[in-house]
Amino acid sequence: MKLVDEADIRVIAGNGGNGCISFRREKFIPLGGPDGGDGGDGGSLFLVADENLNTLVDFRHQRLFRAQRGENGMGRQMYGKKGEDVIIRVPVGTVISAVDTDEIIGDLTQHGQTLKVAQGGQGGLGNMHFKTSTNRAPRKATTGSEGEDRELHMELKLLADVGMLGFPNAGKSTFIRAVSAATPKVADYPFTTLYPNLGVVRVEQDRSFVIADIPGLIEGAAEGAGLGVQFLKHVQRNRLLLHIVDLSPMLEGDEAVEHIAGEVRAIERELERYDAELLGRPRWLLLNKGDLLDDDTRRERAEAVVKALEWTSPWFLISAISRDGTFAVAQHVMEFFDAEKRAELQAVDEDQPWNPLG
Ligand code: GDP
Ligand code: MG
Repeated sequence: MKLVDEADIRVIAGNGGNGCISFRREKFIPLGGPDGGDGGDGGSLFLVADENLNTLVDFRHQRLFRAQRGENGMGRQMYGKKGEDVIIRVPVGTVISAVDTDEIIGDLTQHGQTLKVAQGGQGGLGNMHFKTSTNRAPRKATTGSEGEDRELHMELKLLADVGMLGFPNAGKSTFIRAVSAATPKVADYPFTTLYPNLGVVRVEQDRSFVIADIPGLIEGAAEGAGLGVQFLKHVQRNRLLLHIVDLSPMLEGDEAVEHIAGEVRAIERELERYDAELLGRPRWLLLNKGDLLDDDTRRERAEAVVKALEWTSPWFLISAISRDGTFAVAQHVMEFFDAEKRAELQAVDEDQPWNPLG
């Protein structure tokens, strides 16, 4: 299954600065020669692959990127300053094409890989270059050339980082809608209409992850009922599972608590039947529909369910529909991935031999 995150941006490189027309003026040289300097080159734009980014969602907030123009040349053979380049960071795995021709311009597959996407204009020549034996005082300079202006299409193939588990009507879709900033496209997948619950969650700039619903799990999926297994295969890529359960069934007191705990366990059994390893995957509990209970009942019931399940992982009391507590979940998920990444980096460090000089 391919999930595709997309974004279109426009990149405009800086124009070159103009060449200058100027003549030397010195005390004892009444007719000084031409000394107009060249214009500086315009700044270019580059894309750089960065492994710390997961999605293209930030490009929904900023679509236009411009680099500085070069400064004009000046007298006394002074060159104009070059315009500053602009570096745009994109996730590793981003494929870039030109919107007008569909031609693929680049495929950034490694951290730090760089691609020039818009060339800055060249600075113009100052009149100091145009002096000839017949024209000692040229009044000629050239203007800087224009920077490139391009529309780029970017595509990133995604895997869902987070999978949502839960009975139908627990609130999976509602939760995903509550936290999503965007919806990636599902490409090359025959069951597109059955996979509508997918979102890119943006916690802050440069921090985002992908969340996907896993429907069909409890409908005999583990026995191999086609679609369910497809989805379960996908779950296996999820690094974190969010298990959502309805905290307000039409029951009271202990009965309600037992029912809710029973629903959580039913999904656990399903997971285990499919692949016991999935049960060991980090899984957090979202106790949903808190808005349907009063403050005290909500808290008491949540704690009773957690106790009945002997739940030791993180859990959250939320209302997906009113978005109470949902952003906090997203932030914790992001922190979880950040910590995972730090641990990976540390593991790499520890692999390095000890260097007494370093
Ligand atoms: P899914 O089957 O797990 O995807 O569940 P949905 O997100 O479609 O939600 C099922 C029903 O529960 C819908 O009618 C939702 O409006 C409702 N629902 C979901 N979350 C909440 C919530 O936090 N509070 C209340 N009161 N209703 C909710
Ligand atoms: Mg749903």
